[in-house]
Amino acid sequence: MKITFPHMGHIEFLLKDLFTRLDVDFIIPPPNSTETIKLGVRHAPELACYPLKVTLGNFIEGLEKGADTLIMAGGVGPCRFGYYAETQRRILKQLGYSFEMIRVEPPAAHPIQFIKSFKRVAPKKKIREIWKAIKVSFSKAQVMDFIEKKVLAIRPFEVNKGETTKTKKKAIKLLDQAFLESEIEKAKEEALNLLDSIPQDKEKPFLKIGLVGEFYLLLEPFVNFDLEELLGNMDIYLERGVYLTDWIGPSSKNPVMGVSNEEIAQAAFPYLSHFVGGEGRQTVGHTIIFAYQGFDGVIHLMPFTCMPELIAKSILPKISQDLDFPILTLVFDEQTGKAGLITRIEAFVELLISRRRKGLSPKRLIKIAYRGDSLELTGWKRR
Ligand code: SF4
Repeated sequence: MKITFPHMGHIEFLLKDLFTRLDVDFIIPPPNSTETIKLGVRHAPELACYPLKVTLGNFIEGLEKGADTLIMAGGVGPCRFGYYAETQRRILKQLGYSFEMIRVEPPAAHPIQFIKSFKRVAPKKKIREIWKAIKVSFSKAQVMDFIEKKVLAIRPFEVNKGETTKTKKKAIKLLDQAFLESEIEKAKEEALNLLDSIPQDKEKPFLKIGLVGEFYLLLEPFVNFDLEELLGNMDIYLERGVYLTDWIGPSSKNPVMGVSNEEIAQAAFPYLSHFVGGEGRQTVGHTIIFAYQGFDGVIHLMPFTCMPELIAKSILPKISQDLDFPILTLVFDEQTGKAGLITRIEAFVELLISRRRKGLSPKRLIKIAYRGDSLELTGWKRR
């Protein structure tokens, strides 16, 4: 058995570690490239969501390298994500590839199927061993998320341009070498200390922007044109609404992001009172939370034809108007070009700078109290 899987942010780091612990042979597909996108676009339905096309391209490249087993995440609906594995399986079979598709269901919704999927991956391992391996690899990936979060907070203040990116690579290397739980703990401390040692100028003027939207676009730098680095280099402090381990973790408490799903749902409630699939409700809730946390604006990323984000997109103008809070929605597909994207971002940043100069800040019309580091939701209660 030779497993392959799609790229999405640092999921490769997590799965590489996990499959090594489970003694499973795996092939990492070539990094995302224009060729990957071309392959996916050529074989996927035209109106399929963009992430389906890119990940299909990953599978084709992995199969061409010799993989015979594909790992794909499942979903709980109501958006199309739950159909990705089956759609891709059928497309690839029609193309003549011979393989087995293993769908990994979300652990919070289907814990038994989740473990069973990994039992298929590593049949010789006991459930106890599989569970332990998942736990340790997950904790390592969570450290990676904390590194990414810190990088976003440090980059706008760095004294020497590019130093945060260079130091991030060193921090990841430290973590990569850690295997035992005690080594992971030590690597976490060392990696975060290393990032803290970057010379920073805290007196620098800076803007604060929240990034919200569909998880694949937020997490995969190739498809979002490395937006975080681009904005960070423009001296913009960023916070992201989705981190990988928050997204896959079963707790719903989002320890990396720091705001639980329940709090996000309550924040979104005045505008969107129920789950609409994907990150639709999170996009609405996070936007309101960022406004209350004193951010200057929000950038919303969504794939073309994404159903949950289209719902959120139709609500965001009302939030922007009610709270006097600038929001920029960027829609991505295979036709999206970097130059056009940068022009739109630069115009948005200019707007935020001029608002700062005029002393404008978001209005607080709805009843959500933000105190210090914790969000206290009062007044609005979910029915
Ligand atoms: S969240 Fe949007 S892009 Fe992602 S699978 Fe669902 S519909 Fe497609």
